[in-house]
Amino acid sequence: MGLQFLLLLCSCISVSAPLYAQQILNLTASEQTFLDKLDEIHLCTDPDWMPYEGIDKYGQYTGIMSSFHQVWSEMIGKPVVLVKTSSWDESLKFIREKKCDVLSSAQDIPERRDYLSVTNPYISYSLALATHPDIPFIINLAQVKDKKFVMVKDYAAIKLIKNNYPGLNIVEVNSAVEGLKLVERGMAFAFIDTVPSINYQMLAHGISHLKISGVLIEHYNMSVGVRKDLPLLLSIYNKVIDATSEEKRQQILNNWLSVQLQYDADYSLLWKLLAGLFIILMLSLYRYRVIHRHNTELKAVNKKLVHMSKNDQLTGLPNRYYLHEAFQEALQTYHRYQHQFSVIIIDIDYFKKVNDTHGHVVGDEVIKKIADMLSDNLRDTDIVGRWGGEEFLIICPETDNAGAKAVAEHMRQLIADADFGLKPGNITASFGVTEYNKNESVDECIKRADMALYRAKELGRNKTIVF
Ligand code: GH3
Ligand code: MG
Ligand code: MG
Repeated sequence: MGLQFLLLLCSCISVSAPLYAQQILNLTASEQTFLDKLDEIHLCTDPDWMPYEGIDKYGQYTGIMSSFHQVWSEMIGKPVVLVKTSSWDESLKFIREKKCDVLSSAQDIPERRDYLSVTNPYISYSLALATHPDIPFIINLAQVKDKKFVMVKDYAAIKLIKNNYPGLNIVEVNSAVEGLKLVERGMAFAFIDTVPSINYQMLAHGISHLKISGVLIEHYNMSVGVRKDLPLLLSIYNKVIDATSEEKRQQILNNWLSVQLQYDADYSLLWKLLAGLFIILMLSLYRYRVIHRHNTELKAVNKKLVHMSKNDQLTGLPNRYYLHEAFQEALQTYHRYQHQFSVIIIDIDYFKKVNDTHGHVVGDEVIKKIADMLSDNLRDTDIVGRWGGEEFLIICPETDNAGAKAVAEHMRQLIADADFGLKPGNITASFGVTEYNKNESVDECIKRADMALYRAKELGRNKTIVF
C-alpha cells in the first residue's frame, strides 16, 4: 500500500492462528490461498464516531468496533493495521482509492456499491430522537413530521430516514455534539442517532437537559465494508462474524456502553457551570448585603430626619411644630367628645442673668435639666415641648383649669426646689395656665395662657396664674 500512516493494531498473532482460522472458520481453499498471500489487512475508520469508533488522542483506534476488529484479527490470524484519516469522508475516499482494504463499519447503500461490499450486520441499533425533556414520548415520526430534525452528515442513516420519511426537514451537521447543541438551544426539535451514540455524546459533552423521547422502527445495521475487488476477504469476514459468539458480542458491547462511558465522561462543562453559578451566587449575596447595609443606613437617617423635624435638638423634647400638631389632635378630641383640655406655658425667670453670670453653656445645661424634669414628672397623657428659647408648653388632655393648675404648681415647686449647682441663686420659673374655651382658635387659647404667664411675672415670678 506504500502508506506512511500505517499503525499496527494487532501484532500478537499466535503461530497456530492460520490453522485455527482454517478449521474454525471452515475456509475454502481459495479463501485460504488468499489469506496466505496477505501480510496484513488495512483498515479505515470514522475517526470521530464514539462510542462505535474513533481515533484517540494517542492516534490509537478505539471504540466498540476496535474491540470487534481485534477479536476478528485474532480469528483470521492476520494483523489489522489502521490507516489514519481525518474524517469519515476521507475514509470513503481512501477505500475507493484502495488505500485501505476494509471500512471498520459501513452500511450497504447504492451509491457505494461500485467500490464497496458489506458483510452481514454484526450490530444493529434502533435510531432514536433526542429532544428537550418536556416533549411527550414520540411513538411515530409521522406525529412530528413538520418539525426540524438534525443528523450528522454523510452517515448512511440519513438516506434511510429520507427514504422512509420523504420531505422531512433534516439539517445536516458535522458532529453529534453540534447536533445535540442545536436541539439544546431550541434551534431544532430533535437529534436523530442511535441510543448508544446519543447517550455517549451527552455524557462526554456534559449535555444533561435532553432526553430520548422516541425510538424509531428504523434500525442502523453495522457491517464491515470490504473493497469490491476483494470478494474473498468479504467472505472471510462474513465467516468470522458468524463465528463470533453472542457472549463475546455482548461482552464487547457491555464493556463500551457501561464502564468505558463513565471513564470518558467530560465533567469539565459541569464544573464550569457550577463555578459560574457559585460566582453568580456570591455576587448576588454581596449585592444583597451592600443594598441591605445601605437600606439600614437610609432607614436610620430617615428616622433621624423625622425625629429632627419634630424634636428640639438641645432638649430632645417635641418642638413647636410638633406641639401644633398635638394641639390639633386635642382639638379634634374636644370637638368629638367635648373632653376638656388645658394649656400651661412656662418661662424661666431671669434667664438672661443666668447666661450673663455663668455663660451660655451653663444656660443650656439649665434648659436641658428643666426639660428633663418636666418630661420625667408629667402624667403619661400630658405632652410637653420646647416652645421657644427658655419657654416650654404643656398640653394636658382631659384636664380643666383646676387640674392644670395642680400640674403646674407641682412642676413649679420641683424646679424651685431643685439644685442646679449654681452659685449664687436658684432657678425658678413662672407658669401661665388656661383651659380651652369652646369655639376659640388655638392662637386665642395660647395667647390667654401667655397673658396668665405675664401676670405671673408681674406678680413677682415663681408663680402659677390661671386665666
Ligand atoms: P424673665 O424673668 O422676664 O423671663 O427674664 P429673662 O431674663 O428670662 O428674660 P427673657 O425671657 O426676655 O430672656 C430670655 C433669655 O434666654 C434671652 C436669651 O439670651 C436666652 N436664651 C434663649 N434661648 C437660649 C438657649 O437656647 N440657650 C441659652 N443659654 N440661652 C437662651
Ligand atoms: Mg422668655
Ligand atoms: Mg425668661
